Amino acid sequence: KVRVRFAPSPTGPLHIGGVRTALFNYLFAKKHNGDFVLRIEDTDQNRYVEGAEDYIIEALNWCGIPFDEGPGKEGSYGPYRQSERKHLYKEYAMELVEKGKAYYAFDTPEQLDFHRKDHEAKGKTFIYNWHNRLKLSNSLSLTQEDVEKKLQSGADYVIRFKSPQDEELKLNDMIRGEIKIDTNVLDDKILFKSDGMPTYHLANIVDDHLMKISHVIRGEEWLPSLALHQMLYDAFEWQAPQFAHLPLIMKPVGKGKLSKRDGEKGGFPVFPLSWKESEGYREAGYFPEAVVNFLALLGWNPGTEQELFSLNELVDSFGLERVNKSGARFDPEKTKWYNHQYLQAKDNSELTALFAKGLSNHLSEDSPDFNLDYLETVVSLIKERADFVKDFWDLGHYFFQAPSSYNEKAVKKQWKEDTPKLMEEVIKILSDVQKFDSVTIETAVKGWITSNVLGFGKIMGPLRLIIVGDMKGPHLFDILELLGKEEAIGRIQYALA
Ligand code: GLU
Repeated sequence: KVRVRFAPSPTGPLHIGGVRTALFNYLFAKKHNGDFVLRIEDTDQNRYVEGAEDYIIEALNWCGIPFDEGPGKEGSYGPYRQSERKHLYKEYAMELVEKGKAYYAFDTPEQLDFHRKDHEAKGKTFIYNWHNRLKLSNSLSLTQEDVEKKLQSGADYVIRFKSPQDEELKLNDMIRGEIKIDTNVLDDKILFKSDGMPTYHLANIVDDHLMKISHVIRGEEWLPSLALHQMLYDAFEWQAPQFAHLPLIMKPVGKGKLSKRDGEKGGFPVFPLSWKESEGYREAGYFPEAVVNFLALLGWNPGTEQELFSLNELVDSFGLERVNKSGARFDPEKTKWYNHQYLQAKDNSELTALFAKGLSNHLSEDSPDFNLDYLETVVSLIKERADFVKDFWDLGHYFFQAPSSYNEKAVKKQWKEDTPKLMEEVIKILSDVQKFDSVTIETAVKGWITSNVLGFGKIMGPLRLIIVGDMKGPHLFDILELLGKEEAIGRIQYALA
């Protein structure tokens, strides 16, 4: 059975790259009717950040990619926080020591520092491995007796993995294919510390094994750990899961990985939800479906020109064989484009409800009540130009209040000497329109313009300016219909006064 996991460390808010990893795991699980597990990797207490776990869970839920098992959703393989599994790891570290695959080391931080500096001085890099492990303080260089004594005296120790000498490892990655590694370049990584805590590597492997994880899908930054992880599976004589390392998400311009700073500089979110001062996608007004859709195409391609995918369509189309090896460039404009598309596809009634929620923030106390039908008509007229629901106000404020000022440049261009006189005429025409709907108004106004050979621009320009305050907006006669006769005439009178 396919079982995958998303295994974040609660060291801060989930970055958009983390959400992408979670999403690919989710899609892969659902595609194969498998399970999507959330495991919190919180063995490093120094890096623990309050609230990060809640944030991660809320973010996954907001995106609509909930986990099947995890904290608060206990399945058969819990607990799902490594801090609650602490008691498990030591026996596995001991198993490796007994098998001769790992060993105790007693080097103090000062000693290690000395070796590092000593090597540096000779222009070399100190690596704790086959090359020099016998010169260091560990159970491979000390007598059995000395080791026992040290352990009994309560000396600090670590358990290190014994990386083999002169071997060529063949690793397999579902995205990158076969990767060959010379074990002589590897160091003897720490697996366990005398404070009773495993390191990431040991806890990660033990838990993936115990939780019956079939596929490990994670960011490329973990690729350098793959050799050790494969050696650990081999040392335990466990069947390793299959591995897939996802390409990095790159800055919009230039080289390197997308960072929080890029978002700050560029004014776009890099977190799904707000965190402290950083605005998230949710708060910036993005629809979760749009965020998920755009993230899915960061590093994966469907092999067709299709760009818009519902979550179900993504599940159907997704496959690791179409994940690219090279970094995926993050494009904030494309993110907006996605939101625009999802907004256009939404029901006007749904958009109206969202618009209505924030409207009171813009309206003054004494403003009249606008019913939902009115709002929905406004939405239908302006949504085409909106990327976000929050754009509705900027695009349509004149439906709710008369313009308080007019675009000066436009006034200079549009307002001629005879404009007041002509606008007086417009008032008369509008007063005479019985059925005040867009087509009827348009017929009346245009008929009058034509029969008096006035030129459309001379009338329509100033009229729009008076009604909207600017030279933009939807079809003017649609606006007039919605405002109603009284309001429309009132605005002209006000402008002429
Ligand atoms: N705890 C690691 C992280 O924070 C998990 C890496 C992995 O998936 O193996 O990303």
